[in-house]
Amino acid sequence: MKKIQMVDLQTQYQNIKEDIDRGIQAVIDSAAFIKGAAVSSFQANLEQYTGAKHVIPVGNGTDALQIALMALGLKPGDEVITPTFTFIATAEVVALLGLTPVVVDVDWDTMNISVEAVKKAITKKTKAIVPVHLFGQCADMEELMAIAKAHNLYIIEDACQAIGSVYRFADGTEKQAGTMGEIGCTSFFPSKNLGCYGDGGAIFTNDDELAAKMRAIANHGMVVRYYHDTVGVNSRLDSIQAAVLDVKLKHLDEYIAARQKAATYYDNAFANHPHILVPARSEKSSHVFHQYTLRLVDVDRDAMREALAEAGVPAMIYYPVPLHMQKAYQDARYQVGDFPVAERLAACVLSLPMHTELDEEQLKYIVEAIGERL
Ligand SMILES: *Cc1c(COP(=O)(O)O)cnc(C)c1O
Repeated sequence: MKKIQMVDLQTQYQNIKEDIDRGIQAVIDSAAFIKGAAVSSFQANLEQYTGAKHVIPVGNGTDALQIALMALGLKPGDEVITPTFTFIATAEVVALLGLTPVVVDVDWDTMNISVEAVKKAITKKTKAIVPVHLFGQCADMEELMAIAKAHNLYIIEDACQAIGSVYRFADGTEKQAGTMGEIGCTSFFPSKNLGCYGDGGAIFTNDDELAAKMRAIANHGMVVRYYHDTVGVNSRLDSIQAAVLDVKLKHLDEYIAARQKAATYYDNAFANHPHILVPARSEKSSHVFHQYTLRLVDVDRDAMREALAEAGVPAMIYYPVPLHMQKAYQDARYQVGDFPVAERLAACVLSLPMHTELDEEQLKYIVEAIGERL
C-alpha cells in the first residue's frame, strides 16, 4: 500500500506533470513573471468557472481578505462579525486594520457560523459579516444575506476552503462559494482544493467599482503608473503559479468528485457508529471536502490521534483552539465558556486524510485502524 498522507501532492503532480511542466516552462521562456499572459488566462478561466463577474488574482488568501476589507472603507472601531471556530487569518486581517473582530459561535452540525448568533451580535457599529465556508461547505448564505440586507451590512465570504462548492437558494438559483456576498475570497495554498505550488489567492466580486478599487489596492493603490490614489499593498499572483492553476482548474471538478467519493466511503464506514459523528450535510450546499472532519463522542481524541499516527494514519486537528481563546486575541469581552459549541468542537474534531489520490486500499486501512481503536 502507498504511504498514507493527509494530502498527496506528489502523486497528483505525476498525473498532470506534462501539462504543468509545459505551462511553467512557457512562463520562464516569456519572462513575464508578474502580470503575464498566464495570469490573465487563469483569471478569465476562473471567472468562467465560478460565474463571478470579476476575479482579482492576489498573493494569498489572507491578502484577499485584507484587500476586501480595505476596499470597503471601514474605519477603526467598526465591527466585523466572524465565527470563532476557523483558521486565524479571518480575524487576523480585521485586527490588523484596526477594526474590531466580533466573534460568534458556530452550529454543532455544520460547524459553520450560527445565524442566530450573528443576529444577536449585531450592534450599531457592525459593518460587515465574514462567514467562513468551513471545510468546503457553504454557510447559510440565504439567511446571512437577509440579515445583512436588513442591517445594511457587507458580506465578505471566506471561501478559502470551498472553491467549487455550490449553494442553492430557496428559489432554485445556484451560486458558487465566494460569488454571493459583495466580495468573496479564496486561497490557492498548495493543500487547498485548487492549490498552486507556493502561495496564491483570489478575490471575487460582481461589483465593477469594488473590482477596480481592489485591483488598485492589490497593486500599491495605483491605476496610472506611479500615481497613487489610495494606500495599497503589493499582492499579486505570480505568473508561474497562474500557469499551474490554469492546468489544475481544468481538473477541479474531477478533483472534487474524487474527494466526495472518499467522503462517501468514510460516511458509509462510520454510519451510525456510537462514537463517531460524520460531517453533517447542509441541504442547501454541496460539500467539496477540503477536510473530512469527524466529531468523536466519548473518545480520548488526542490518544486516538497518536495511536493512528503509530499505525501510519495521519490525522489533524482543525482547529484545536477557537479564536476567542487564542493568546494574541485575548479580549476582556470574551471568556472561556462563551462559545460552548466551538469549544466543544475544538475538543472533539479529527480530520482524516482527504485528497484526490486516496485509493480504496488506503481508505479501508484508515477505516479499520480507527474501528480497531474504538
Ligand atoms: C487557508 C485559509 C486562509 C488563508 O489563506 P492563505 O492563502 O494561506 O493566506 C483564510 N481563511 C481560511 C478559512 C483558510 O482555510
